[in-house]
Amino acid sequence: MDVTRRNIIEVNLRDVQAAIDTACTTHGRSRSEVTLIAVTKTFPASDVAHLAALGITDVGENKDQEARAKREEYLRIDPSHPLRWHLIGQLQRNKAKSVAAYADMVHSVDRVALADALDKACLSLGRRLPVLLQVDLESGADPERGGVRPDELMPLADHVQKSTSLELAGLMAVAPLNERPTSAFARLAAIRERFLADFPGAQILSAGMSHDLDAAIAHGATHVRVGSALLGSRTPVG
Ligand SMILES: *Cc1c(COP(=O)(O)O)cnc(C)c1O
Repeated sequence: MDVTRRNIIEVNLRDVQAAIDTACTTHGRSRSEVTLIAVTKTFPASDVAHLAALGITDVGENKDQEARAKREEYLRIDPSHPLRWHLIGQLQRNKAKSVAAYADMVHSVDRVALADALDKACLSLGRRLPVLLQVDLESGADPERGGVRPDELMPLADHVQKSTSLELAGLMAVAPLNERPTSAFARLAAIRERFLADFPGAQILSAGMSHDLDAAIAHGATHVRVGSALLGSRTPVG
């Protein structure tokens, strides 16, 4: 075991937990309402094991292939701490079958075709899958980041609600790069309030990353997705 790496992650985790604690106190939220998802994309399974040993229960990955392989490797090196695996990145329909085999939650459902593919895959596996609908907060300005436009959210939610195997669990969003997170997340909170009037059971709000978790918690986040603040900066790919 790399003790130095474990120590670095431990110190980072303490800082992130402190930031979440502070945000909850500042914004009148109960700490128990906010789940920390450690985003482990680009980092090795050994880091996942460090996080699990330090008490992390939820990890997030943005690519099916990487998530699947890392999860399998993690289960080999540390079968003692079961983790929940969250798929948080853009998903192609042809990955639905693979993802349905191991994901505990998918945060990035943003279109009917993807919902249907996941539903079909889960049906054949005889499982239920909690999903979040990813809301596009910049109205299509950056299609790479995905998300359903707010005006198309309700029809998509209706569709998922009527599916056989998907459980409509809530919403997810990423703050646009060109806007203050607090104004983007305020907009998200308003969208969510209307959404919850029709779908009161879908209480999860996945929002907030390393640099904007305070604003997200201020606006109702129940799950924050934190990568670089825990594990360091990622080497840019490509
Ligand atoms: C990478 C990623 C994160 C984590 O971002 P950090 O800035 O490293 O905390 C959160 N959400 C999504 C969707 C991501 O792809």
